[in-house]
Amino acid sequence: MSRSNATGAAVAAVDGPIFELPEAARAWQRKMRGFVDEELIPWEVEAELHGGELPADVRARQRATALTFGLPGMDAPREHSGLALSILEQVAIYEQLGRVTNALGWCFSEAHRWMFESCSAEQIERYVKPILRGERHECYAITEAESGSDVEGIQATARRDGDDYLIDGEKWYVTGANHADFFILQAKLEGGRNHGAHALFFIEAGSPGIEMLSNPLFSHTYASHHPTYRFAAVRVPAANLIGREGDGMSYSYAWFRRERLMIAARCCGAAERLIDEATAFASQRMVSGQPIAQFQAIQFMLADCVTELWAARLMTYEAAAAHDRGADLKTLHARCSMVKLYASEMANRVADRAVQIFGGRGYMRENVAERFFRELRVDRIWEGTSEIQRLIIARGLLKRGRAGLIG
Ligand SMILES: Cc1cc2nc3c(=O)[nH]c(=O)nc-3n(C[C@H](O)[C@H](O)[C@H](O)COP(=O)(O)OP(=O)(O)OC[C@H]3O[C@@H](n4cnc5c(N)ncnc54)[C@H](O)[C@@H]3O)c2cc1C
Repeated sequence: MSRSNATGAAVAAVDGPIFELPEAARAWQRKMRGFVDEELIPWEVEAELHGGELPADVRARQRATALTFGLPGMDAPREHSGLALSILEQVAIYEQLGRVTNALGWCFSEAHRWMFESCSAEQIERYVKPILRGERHECYAITEAESGSDVEGIQATARRDGDDYLIDGEKWYVTGANHADFFILQAKLEGGRNHGAHALFFIEAGSPGIEMLSNPLFSHTYASHHPTYRFAAVRVPAANLIGREGDGMSYSYAWFRRERLMIAARCCGAAERLIDEATAFASQRMVSGQPIAQFQAIQFMLADCVTELWAARLMTYEAAAAHDRGADLKTLHARCSMVKLYASEMANRVADRAVQIFGGRGYMRENVAERFFRELRVDRIWEGTSEIQRLIIARGLLKRGRAGLIG
């Protein structure tokens, strides 16, 4: 079907949305929305007021539901009992999980696709499949005191010693280490043919030589902590090396791409919740005899929020769909950075406006806007700060040109 535009040229008619989630993704969206609304959101204030902790039976029920849904294996191949969902379906899941505060959506660990591609059969049995079954939990130890943005500059070392490696170094912000059974640690090889190259290792949490140096408090109130660890001559069997010596950075890039997309999805979910709550509040809060939603200043804030959310959501869905289409990896890398940058900054702006709309109530910890205002801040920092995302995007633009990045 075609029609004419003002110049008389034929243009294709667009009868429906250009981008609509496929039914499989919408089914996940509905399922996760029900879980989040019924089993997670009701516990947010309890978590906030109790250092992120929930009663054990509640936590167990949430974990059991996540396991029943198969969430630990959403990215895992079917031949290993995973769900092998498309990236778009995974984005639909994480968008819903983003609607809840206090990281209550972190009720499962995930066995990622890259693990099945790079781990040995023994590692898959010992570390990866137990994650799928909800029996064991991992944490990632990459960042150090002197190297966060500059991962290349890590100083932790792995030195071959017979059938083992000896690991030395200090790791910061090891999220979830208080619930984890093992670390996935990145170190630089010392000595040998691959001296200076990066490598990843599985390290059992109780190994001799591992010491927790501190467990700092952070802005958010989460049950998962982010402690600092020292690894002093920690002996790790060579069989715990993930992939080959020198593979470390390539795995990091793979999970940065996925994680950046999922952060964007969570930020979209958070913004959606904030907009819904702020709109409902503005419609019923009476000031000077009228709902504040009647004031143009409030309307403008809400209008900016929903406009920016729409843009971020379309970007996120499109970048996920590009993954599923098998787009060029370098282009995807830049697009994931754009999506993470835009969605995380958008969500922070939305949270700031939501606090303003709620007025004094928005500054109370029992208020969703107050919690998101603190919690969303880290999305501009972890998995690459906004500045690092801009560097990646700019480098991509200078190398591949505008068309190479966004067509
Ligand atoms: C709550 C939390 C949880 C975390 N969880 C984990 C985890 O589980 N595992 C893990 O390994 N790490 C984790 N991190 C670490 C996180 O990934 C790093 O904090 C992040 O990458 C930034 O590194 P940095 O803190 O060292 O900042 P820095 O690298 O010191 O950066 C400081 C500032 O300088 C800017 N900057 C740096 N380089 C450049 C440049 N080239 N150009 C322009 N500006 C630049 C940055 O954007 C930033 O504004 C976590 C962090 C936090 C806060």
